[in-house]
Amino acid sequence: MKVNVNKDACIGCGACVSICEDVFEFDDEGMSKVIKEEVPSDLESDVKEAVESCPTAAIEEK
Ligand code: SF4
Repeated sequence: MKVNVNKDACIGCGACVSICEDVFEFDDEGMSKVIKEEVPSDLESDVKEAVESCPTAAIEEK
């Protein structure tokens, strides 16, 4: 599983970062960025939860 954040859609709410800080972190502008594009299998369920929790559907599974 790979994951990407659409920066145009992210509003920086922080939900993904708080759910899975091993994959998402804030960039210099306070928006989410992916730090592990290739998601380790043991983090996939957390990433899926982040995808479902994102209020703007900015997180894309690839
Ligand atoms: S949950 Fe969505 S809107 Fe919120 S910081 Fe993450 S990517 Fe951005």
